Amino acid sequence: MSDIPAELPPSLLQVQGVNLQYHTRERRVQATHDVSFDVWPADRFVLLGPSGCGKSSLLKAIGGFLPPVSGDIRLAGKKVSKPGPDRMMVFQEFDQLPPWKTVLENIAFPLIAGRKVGRAEANERAEYFLHKVGLGAFRNAYPHTLSGGMKQRVAIARALALQPKVLLMDEPFAALDALTRRQMQEELLSLWEEVRFTLLFVTHSIEEALIVGSRILLLSPHPGRVKAELNCHQYSLADSGGESFQADVSRIHDLLFPPSSSPNLTSQALSQGSHYEQPTAHPA
Ligand code: ADP
Ligand code: MG
Repeated sequence: MSDIPAELPPSLLQVQGVNLQYHTRERRVQATHDVSFDVWPADRFVLLGPSGCGKSSLLKAIGGFLPPVSGDIRLAGKKVSKPGPDRMMVFQEFDQLPPWKTVLENIAFPLIAGRKVGRAEANERAEYFLHKVGLGAFRNAYPHTLSGGMKQRVAIARALALQPKVLLMDEPFAALDALTRRQMQEELLSLWEEVRFTLLFVTHSIEEALIVGSRILLLSPHPGRVKAELNCHQYSLADSGGESFQADVSRIHDLLFPPSSSPNLTSQALSQGSHYEQPTAHPA
């Protein structure tokens, strides 16, 4: 399924044979094993796998916060060795925004602080993305007055205003209620339609991966290894109840947890925190 036509341009992000480890006092934890994938410009690339399979660790490594013990990460041909504004991260937590800055200031501040652009252009760009995420009316509000979903919109606008080469999102909607989560998925897709940024999105929800992604990398339970890569351009939020969508959900579930591999514990881990029902039917 990862057949790549010869005429494709070079990939934007190359992750090659990446092994990630943590060293605690007692032991060494292998977070990922030999993970490789490529992300092309304007991809909506999803890392999907159960809790603990190393998704956040991979994002941290791509962000430049966690050096691989072996393997290579390249962005636009350049080896990733430290954090940089070409990779912006949006997290699950709602407290990513300095509370003493207004919504507009929150978005403009990194641009001004990073001296990427002058103050006037920073404010202009901040206004642009503020409107793109539908928060024009809240420009002077402080973060504590916003809902979780609104805070996530500000975090997305702030990240996109820096015009990163790739936007990294680590389960950004996992802490939202089911309805807000759906709304945020829809908004993220329409924002992508307009801006066409490159997205690397982490989730443990199969449904969310199919809705948000254009391609999905399936990772095995801990330590994360690549199980498969799938195309899922065809789906949007409207398809989620449909037959072929649900068939793909089951197929992915069985790829992650082969019916013979005592799936109960692991599938529970996968669906933990998910607002969606996991499929229960397994082919014999
Ligand atoms: P995921 O995001 O897929 O849930 P993580 O990347 O957070 O997984 O974690 C992968 C593995 O690395 C897990 O076994 C986790 O316990 C371990 N791990 C993550 N962070 C640390 C850390 N700071 N120190 C030690 N082990 C860690
Ligand atoms: Mg994680």
